[in-house]
Amino acid sequence: MTMLCVPILVDSPEQGLRLAAEARDGGADLVELRLDTYYTGDDDAVQIPAIISLISQCPLPCITTCRPVLEGGHYGGPDAARIALYQRLGSAAGPGEVPPRYIDCELATYARSASSRQSVNLAVEHPAQASGNSTGLILSTHNFQTRPPDLIRQIEAMLKEPATRVVKVAYFARSIRDNIELLDLAAELRREHGKASIMLGMGPFGLMSRVLAPKFGALLTFAALRRDEQTAPGQPILRELTEDYRFSAISESTKVYGIVGWPVEHSLSPMVHNAGFEAVSHDGVYLPMPIAGGEVGSYESFKGTLLDFIEHASLDFAGCSVTIPHKENLVALAREMTEAGDTRWHLDRLSQACNAANTLTVRRDARGAAVRLDVTNTDGPGFISALIPAVGEVAGRDVVILGAGGTARAIAAALLLEGARVWIINRTPARADELAASLDAALGGGRPIARTDVSALARLAPAAVVNCTSLGMRGGPGPDRCPLDEQVLPTLPSKCVIADCVYRPVQTPLLRAAQAIGLPTLDGVGMFVEQAAMQFAQWTGTPAPRGLFERTVREVAG
Ligand code: NAP
Repeated sequence: MTMLCVPILVDSPEQGLRLAAEARDGGADLVELRLDTYYTGDDDAVQIPAIISLISQCPLPCITTCRPVLEGGHYGGPDAARIALYQRLGSAAGPGEVPPRYIDCELATYARSASSRQSVNLAVEHPAQASGNSTGLILSTHNFQTRPPDLIRQIEAMLKEPATRVVKVAYFARSIRDNIELLDLAAELRREHGKASIMLGMGPFGLMSRVLAPKFGALLTFAALRRDEQTAPGQPILRELTEDYRFSAISESTKVYGIVGWPVEHSLSPMVHNAGFEAVSHDGVYLPMPIAGGEVGSYESFKGTLLDFIEHASLDFAGCSVTIPHKENLVALAREMTEAGDTRWHLDRLSQACNAANTLTVRRDARGAAVRLDVTNTDGPGFISALIPAVGEVAGRDVVILGAGGTARAIAAALLLEGARVWIINRTPARADELAASLDAALGGGRPIARTDVSALARLAPAAVVNCTSLGMRGGPGPDRCPLDEQVLPTLPSKCVIADCVYRPVQTPLLRAAQAIGLPTLDGVGMFVEQAAMQFAQWTGTPAPRGLFERTVREVAG
């Protein structure tokens, strides 16, 4: 079973014990006592007995280490004192003394000490370990910048040491593809060498390696008690792992899903889908999958990553949501693969028409091979599902869309396919013309879609006006701005539904202005819930718990 380990930067034995009790109460199995914030190497008579007492009283089994500055820690004293500390702790066997479960020693320190004959060969020298119980040696390597170019040689060096019980690698992941290497290494070390391992990607790209550790049989993963107590960049919080990602439910058979985009760290999708998986007992976990965009090669990294995930033999990658800036890339990938003769890819009509898709569903055979890849767009149908209860049927009705970006395109295409007449108003009129012409062409010609302007609104008497611009969005170009001149609202029919796609915040300036004069409104949460529910049903074959989705989004979006 993969353990959850909380790292504690020890300021004092009392503080260490208090945080260890908190970790136990929060569901951790183990703590890592980082002694480098307490141990100085020049006050052994006081500090060593205090450390032994801390370990002996610790409410959870512990890893101890005293990380030097060179490996990202705080210890700046002499190596010799630190090594002597390890040896003393590893052989703590006096009355009432409990030795640590593991001592973590950096490979570099270990090699240095061996060559200088100042041995830290714990397995040989430690009597408890020689008898097969108690303290085990973790040999570790950390790189806070990048993947070490000699990583495989470092692992081989660790494996060569007979004392090594656990191989630990932590490096700053360069992209989410690095997680695959780390997870494969964990599985390989266990399968081929019978060796336990800790394989961690640091930074924003490394989360998958941390959450999926149980799926690949790693010994443990680290989780901080609080965000300001993280000991490595990208380290998750204990509550996130236990509650949001349901760490204890992740096993070898768990299917992996995620949201691919850039940025994705504030996406609500992981919270919504993971809660849904739990509600319907689906053996899956949903993760942020950031793939950098906006640069040359972003299509190539999108393609490379997705194909790696799809073809991986044991990742069980079962699908993903795709968001800005990769919605067009998903369509391009499906087209490229199909043109290359890969018949597994299927692109739905709406995605073809809008040249953008937000969902990939991967179907696998009994041996785990990907046999069918469905690329779909749930943004448009999600919006229509949310709109219909408010306006009734849309066929033959006029709907005005504000904006001509990706969301406007998906919603306009879905409305046209439902038989609505669509009018586009956009800050940049040429983009509205382009959207109308390209959608009309993509759907076969003769579709009722055209650009218009605000002065035509009263005459059109639309069934709904939909904000598809990013005005009103928190963190967007105009969070306090209304995308429609407020003077125009009273000229609309009293039953005209004012809908907003923006859902953060839920109450936007547009919705407030419409409510103030009594027009019916529809906020963006409904669309978010419906598009997510459609993805969920495609992936799990089970209807989504919409009520749970909605409560979750409303609570967080505010
Ligand atoms: P996008 O492709 O970047 O399009 C942005 C649109 O907003 C463009 O039409 C742009 O006009 C317009 N715009 C931007 N700044 C403006 C300003 N200062 N004044 C007037 N117009 C401005 O964005 P998108 O992907 O379509 O997303 C639009 C919104 O929909 C976002 O807030 C997003 O969060 C929301 N959304 C919600 C859901 C949901 O499930 N509820 C799903 C998807 C998206 P120009 O063409 O003139 O630049």
